[in-house]
Amino acid sequence: MSRIIDGRTIAEDLKTKLSTLAQDLEQKTGVIPGLAILRVGEDPASQLYVQRKGLSAKDVGYHFEEHVFPAWISPDMLEAKIAELNQAPHIHGIILQLPLPPQLDKFHFLSRIDPSKDVDGLHPLNAGKLFQGLPGGFIACTPLGCLTLLQTLYASLEGLTVGVVGCSLLVGRPMAMLMLQQDCTVWMAHSKTQNLPALCETADILIVAIGNPQFIQGEWIRKGATVLDVGINRLTSGEIVGDVDFLSAQKRAGAITPVPGGVGPMTVVSLLRNTLEAAFRYAGQPFPL
Ligand code: NAP
Repeated sequence: MSRIIDGRTIAEDLKTKLSTLAQDLEQKTGVIPGLAILRVGEDPASQLYVQRKGLSAKDVGYHFEEHVFPAWISPDMLEAKIAELNQAPHIHGIILQLPLPPQLDKFHFLSRIDPSKDVDGLHPLNAGKLFQGLPGGFIACTPLGCLTLLQTLYASLEGLTVGVVGCSLLVGRPMAMLMLQQDCTVWMAHSKTQNLPALCETADILIVAIGNPQFIQGEWIRKGATVLDVGINRLTSGEIVGDVDFLSAQKRAGAITPVPGGVGPMTVVSLLRNTLEAAFRYAGQPFPL
């Protein structure tokens, strides 16, 4: 049986460190890290995610504000709100919660966020810095959380074969770039990939983000591999499951994240980490993590 990677505990430990660092920053400079989330429409999953992010931000002593708009908001109004938050000195991190209603082009609005406040790492400048391996950007929160988990398991990732299943802008692509930066050998798969089971068998570390419940089967996984399951899917029974068939995967993997309680908490704590780093930069202080 494989080791279960307890994302909740690892995230809680990191939150404690972030809370202490936030207090130190405030004492030294008077700056309180500030996070603002813009939410458009009434998508229930988005409501829940924003609520969790807000509670976590308050837990570690940050200022938090949520700005909610109806789905019919005009592009000009949304753009004006982003411009206002870009200028606000008490806000260091801005998130535009996705998905947006179909009439609003997410790429347009993401590129309106000041890159120095883009704590989701989705502005083209930050995504480009990751692509080019340049420092000073922000890395998307889920890939950053996955890397943090892996660093608790491995002293070095160099030379390992990493398979990333799913190549979304939010998860798969930045994940692959991040692993390349760790000197891993990386492959990516998507919905048109041929013979995925044979490909999965080559991976020392398999990271899955496809949004397809229990799709990856245990027998596809290399014996002893580490499996990070990013997927969050609600079955008709109400049960939340990942993209990996946990029971069969557990028999082959060396270590595996559960869903819930694996990658999810790491995504939230990575957002807190990025927000704190943004506040440190704003205050002209070196970020100690
Ligand atoms: P997305 O934007 O829908 O992208 C899904 C990707 O998976 C696409 O690249 C798609 O391929 C690929 N794909 C779909 N079915 C596939 C299959 N059968 N075989 C191989 N590839 C397949 O999704 P996302 O935003 O990355 O999210 C993926 C999952 O992660 C969702 O369940 C989401 O809820 C979850 N998620 C969790 C967290 C967390 O914190 N735990 C954070 C973000 C997302 P094509 O490009 O060919 O269409």
